[in-house]
Amino acid sequence: MKKYQLIVVGGGPGGYTAAFRAAELGMSVAIVDDNDLGGVCLNWGCIPTKSLLKNAEVFELINNANSYGIEVGKPKIHFEKIINKTIQARKRLSKGLHFQVRKLGVDFFPGFATFIDQNSIEVDGNTLHGDTFIIATGSKAKHLHSIDHSGENVMTAKEIFSLKKLPESMTIIGAGEAKENILPNEDVEVSQWMHKVLKRKKVDIQTGTMATEINDEYILVSIGVEGNSSGFGLKKIGIEIGSNNHIIVDKNGKTNLDNIYAVGDVIGPPWLAHVSSSEGLYVVEHIAKLSPKKIDYDCVPACTYSKPEIGSIGLSQKILDERGIDYKVVKSFFNANGKAVASDSTEGFIKILVSDRNQILGAHIIGSNATEMISEFSLAMSNNLSVENILDSIHPHPTFSEAIFETLMQLR
Ligand SMILES: Cc1cc2nc3c(=O)[nH]c(=O)nc-3n(C[C@H](O)[C@H](O)[C@H](O)COP(=O)(O)OP(=O)(O)OC[C@H]3O[C@@H](n4cnc5c(N)ncnc54)[C@H](O)[C@@H]3O)c2cc1C
Repeated sequence: MKKYQLIVVGGGPGGYTAAFRAAELGMSVAIVDDNDLGGVCLNWGCIPTKSLLKNAEVFELINNANSYGIEVGKPKIHFEKIINKTIQARKRLSKGLHFQVRKLGVDFFPGFATFIDQNSIEVDGNTLHGDTFIIATGSKAKHLHSIDHSGENVMTAKEIFSLKKLPESMTIIGAGEAKENILPNEDVEVSQWMHKVLKRKKVDIQTGTMATEINDEYILVSIGVEGNSSGFGLKKIGIEIGSNNHIIVDKNGKTNLDNIYAVGDVIGPPWLAHVSSSEGLYVVEHIAKLSPKKIDYDCVPACTYSKPEIGSIGLSQKILDERGIDYKVVKSFFNANGKAVASDSTEGFIKILVSDRNQILGAHIIGSNATEMISEFSLAMSNNLSVENILDSIHPHPTFSEAIFETLMQLR
């Protein structure tokens, strides 16, 4: 029987980040995954979807080439090549992960792990013994009970990548249909702006209603996820599972069993790759008694890779009002930003919520590069930098990020 100081079950961003850090700290480490390293994020989530989005962006740019003074013919879509490109991106990054596994001396076991007891798992007939475990088995898409998911035309995000041709029409169930607004977790003004953009693009949006009769060629069910915590022995060994099948953990990521921790999507929202990996790092450093800094869940950047993009962090105006916290609002539109005008990407705005002590409470951006710009607020908020600190730093010209500086100048 092989013995390890740490065994990580699940090789997504939460799992592999934890495994790599533990190996760097000198632990003997095994990682198990029944698919490939990278998890949902690399195989059909974060990365392949961004590859698809790039294709859409290129298509749109070619269609608009005339407005840039460039004449081109009508673009033709080769859908198989588009899907292949996502596979190439995935393979390239997967190679990088396998290189790290070898470099750091982590043992990778491809296969499905089942807990035998609190200190051992079984993977394809092999028994592995671990002093400590980290469960990072992620989440799975929820199914809609009112729809028969067995039909080929009903998909979740995973099945999109098996499509052979671009769908003629699609109904997407999710994005806030049952709620009052699309993107219900975003600032209301941001959500309303996106609503208008989608309407302009002739997307038929129905909010505050449940999907009933659907006549489109495909249905994409996107109603959220639940913890992937069943079918591999957790109940048998007595791990406590809470609502939505999430594993219950304490503030250090420890389950009710002393040597078993859990990180990432399987412990609940926010279901984001960067949160999973931060939790992976935190838990390993905690196990190694390094006293890591606690994760501040009020400072997690959230990105929506729409066009225009959305990036947000911290509290929304609605939550500040609900909590009775005093704040100031500063806002500016990208149509006044040099880079945005020069590159014909003036859609959107920046809205920043600031405390009476000039600390950033929340930032909400809709516009080109919003998902990149939000990092500036992440740095500021997690280090308690003030508005003055941001204004003391020079922002290059012309850039979209200059709009952050210009917006905050309203407070001087
Ligand atoms: C379409 C889509 C787009 C997304 N885009 C983004 C984005 O842009 N940015 C972002 O931050 N997040 C995004 N996400 C969310 C992100 O993918 C997840 O938050 C992230 O992958 C969670 O990481 P994880 O390590 O917790 O679990 P996962 O990535 O789900 O990895 C869990 C792994 O565990 C394996 N596993 C499960 N059970 C067992 C077992 N018993 N034995 C062995 N292996 C097992 C699974 O096969 C899987 O490989 C997206 C998700 C989807 C679906």
